[in-house]
Amino acid sequence: MNVDYSVLGRQYKKYQNEYEEAALRAMRSGWYILGNELEKFEADFAAFHGMDCCVGVGNGLDALRLALEAMEIGKGDEVIVQANTYIATALAVSETGAVPVFVDADVFFGIDSNLLEKAITCKTKAIMAVHLYGQPCEMDKILAIAKEHNLYVIEDCAQAHGAVYKGKLTGTFGDAGCFSFYPTKPVGALGDAGAVLTNDNVLAERIKMLRNYGSRVKYQHEILGLNSRMDEIQAAVLGVALKYVNEGNSERRKIAAAYLEGIHNTNIVLPKIKPEAEHVFHIFPILCEERNRLYNFLEKNGIYTQIHYPVPCHLAKCYQELGYQAGDISTAEHYASSELSLPIYVGITKEEVSYVIDKINQFE
Ligand SMILES: *Cc1c(COP(=O)(O)O)cnc(C)c1O
Repeated sequence: MNVDYSVLGRQYKKYQNEYEEAALRAMRSGWYILGNELEKFEADFAAFHGMDCCVGVGNGLDALRLALEAMEIGKGDEVIVQANTYIATALAVSETGAVPVFVDADVFFGIDSNLLEKAITCKTKAIMAVHLYGQPCEMDKILAIAKEHNLYVIEDCAQAHGAVYKGKLTGTFGDAGCFSFYPTKPVGALGDAGAVLTNDNVLAERIKMLRNYGSRVKYQHEILGLNSRMDEIQAAVLGVALKYVNEGNSERRKIAAAYLEGIHNTNIVLPKIKPEAEHVFHIFPILCEERNRLYNFLEKNGIYTQIHYPVPCHLAKCYQELGYQAGDISTAEHYASSELSLPIYVGITKEEVSYVIDKINQFE
């Protein structure tokens, strides 16, 4: 049997008529950028979260970057970021001219809130909380520390659409909730897209200007902006994806439950799940000291896995000049060398999941 890491086509087929209807509607409308489809999606995405404002942008990286820029974070400032995230979280900080200050992870793969105080300096302006793999960070502790030090909190929700922490959706805790709608994400477009959620009208207005060349009124450029707009076809398609986010999340939760129950192998550490949160399992991460051998063993058996992520941000070549050394951020480094992500997606069959479990249990 062959089990691919991700098969987007299965989700597409499941909702094919609706996706195609939505895309055709946008295509036939004769209006392709900043139109009714985007306005409708922004309103729906805000309403889904019970938030006042949603601003659609070009991708998840820009959602983070424009939120930071709208907060006037830039050169001379520092932003705290967990070291075990996708590089985009850190790049968003760097693109503004600010410096990412990397902090280690806790046992749930989130930023370790016990290490925040030590990382705060007089230059710190914000904390980025990444709900990595779809599991919410410890938002109550993070918010309390941010409040005490007068810092912004930005949530990177790129993997956590519909995740819940203590009864509240992720993306609704901080000053801004930033989303990616990259096709594989829990709410996925059929191309690139992103969005920022906020209850701060002024912030939302600034992000709207920034995404459209710094202008509110055509040819009146008030601030230095860029071009980062969600197009009408993606907005239309995302309306369909949003409708089924909870369905997809519960499907992945069932697969995760099967993995958690079925995998019994002393060489493998299963992910720890917070009882106070609702994880959406964008990724199902296991840890194995002999990760590369396990990867090859599974591949030989037709099972394709991935690594999220093989290099922690502080050791990425692009951040060499920040001066971090191997050993500086040990938990994140341990995750980078031992994490393996198992297939988990809408449309994976029970037989495929059982096959993955059987093979993992045979690994010695
Ligand atoms: C996917 C992702 C991003 C970037 O989103 P894009 O839409 O690809 O720009 C940022 N942060 C995290 C944690 C992600 O997983």
